[in-house]
Amino acid sequence: MSKRQLAMVMDLNKCIGCQTCTVACKTQWTNRNGREYMYWNNVETHPGAGYPRNWMEAGGGFDQDGNLKDGIIPDLALDYGVPWDYNHDELFNGSLLQTKSDLQWGPNWDEDVGGGEYPNSYFFYIPRICNHCSNPGCLAACPREAIFKREQDGIVLVDLERCQGYRYCIAGCPYKKIYFNPKISKSEKCIFCFPRVERGLPPACAHQCVGRIRFVGFLDDEEGQVYKLVHKYKVALPLRPDFGTQPNVYYVPPLFEPPKFDDNMAPIEGSRRTPIEYLELLFGKEVHQALETLRKEMEKRARGEESELMDILIAYSHRDMFRLDNN
Ligand code: SF4
Ligand code: SF4
Repeated sequence: MSKRQLAMVMDLNKCIGCQTCTVACKTQWTNRNGREYMYWNNVETHPGAGYPRNWMEAGGGFDQDGNLKDGIIPDLALDYGVPWDYNHDELFNGSLLQTKSDLQWGPNWDEDVGGGEYPNSYFFYIPRICNHCSNPGCLAACPREAIFKREQDGIVLVDLERCQGYRYCIAGCPYKKIYFNPKISKSEKCIFCFPRVERGLPPACAHQCVGRIRFVGFLDDEEGQVYKLVHKYKVALPLRPDFGTQPNVYYVPPLFEPPKFDDNMAPIEGSRRTPIEYLELLFGKEVHQALETLRKEMEKRARGEESELMDILIAYSHRDMFRLDNN
């Protein structure tokens, strides 16, 4: 149990799927030394199989009695997808640009596919990092006690001296956000950019986010935006809370979407394309109240009234989105 917990809130209404966060993370941490296939930050389209493929059905996490559930280790080629090279020779010979390998999946394989049928198809993006859970499945699964939570901020890290590469942690994490590095035979994961955090800077994914969707701060800091979104207004919810790991990344669920069209292509007033059941699956029953609060506060603002919640979500000042130095 850590004394304090850092958390991130992501507003899914503002994510444009640009992958700037993914590139910021990859260039900083995972473009070398056996980490090439890893995406500590990825942005996936929902509904969709995600990355690694079908991670939501891959087990791990805890049952209702608190017992660790069995999980699988995703396959490198089938579920993560191997890094590829392009065959530039063919391009210069007048052919189409081809990859050199036989690809089967990748970190953004089903981008923008989504669900529903034209003209009522729908999708939204979910950026994912390690949730730095309060009850981490990865930590519980490790027989070497090589995974630990830092007291001062709750960041979950792997002690590479202790790790023997057994990979139980990968099976135990229901989000599949811990990876095996075949070059050093050890597990590695998102470190919440702790060297940056220790200098008062937010993680690179949050700092670079062009949509200004990411807030970072301590969960007990009552003046902070993270506290207000999670605890005061309760519009930021953990992903798959039923997995039992108590995640510390929270999401403002998608409220905006075009209405459904009827057979004459006329918009149906008050309709939603994304089935509410899908949002319930992702964020639990609390999603109803969160959407209702967001709707009401938007209406207030539209009438010209004050709304602290809307001011926070608009994120006028990028700097205010990060509060790391209020010890
Ligand atoms: Fe561990 Fe997975 Fe939770 Fe990260 S998301 S702390 S890897 S259980
Ligand atoms: Fe979404 Fe921000 Fe990442 Fe772009 S940088 S994909 S807006 S989270």
